[in-house]
Amino acid sequence: MERTATCVCGQLTVGCKGEPARVSLCHCLACQKRTGSTYGIAAFFRREDVELKGRARRFMRSSDSGYEVTFHFCPDCGSTVFWEPHRKVDMIAVAVGAFADPAFPPPSQAVYEEHRHPWVSIIHPSRPASPLW
Ligand SMILES: [Zn+2]
Ligand SMILES: [Zn+2]
Repeated sequence: MERTATCVCGQLTVGCKGEPARVSLCHCLACQKRTGSTYGIAAFFRREDVELKGRARRFMRSSDSGYEVTFHFCPDCGSTVFWEPHRKVDMIAVAVGAFADPAFPPPSQAVYEEHRHPWVSIIHPSRPASPLW
């Protein structure tokens, strides 16, 4: 299986081999700000299974866990396509929406549930939830 995530204008792409190690939905307020939506959703792939192409700008912020995260977004259209959780340096998080594929594997966990908008469905995790950043 090979999938490609792209920004809206298409110049920044991430090719991903195999299935994601984890798909995680995040209700935190920083993800709400970043996406302009009510949650963020990330697919985690091993770094060696990911191929990055195109130009990106970076934005680094610390997370509630105290680790930093570096977000990479397209300088032309502004889409965040992937990010690097410093807590898990062997992994790349790819924005699930950037695959534009409704058949993409669903999230297996949700974190920062306390910030969930009440109309967003509750994820019933297949394993205990833990933030990866
Ligand atoms: Zn773009
Ligand atoms: Zn978040």
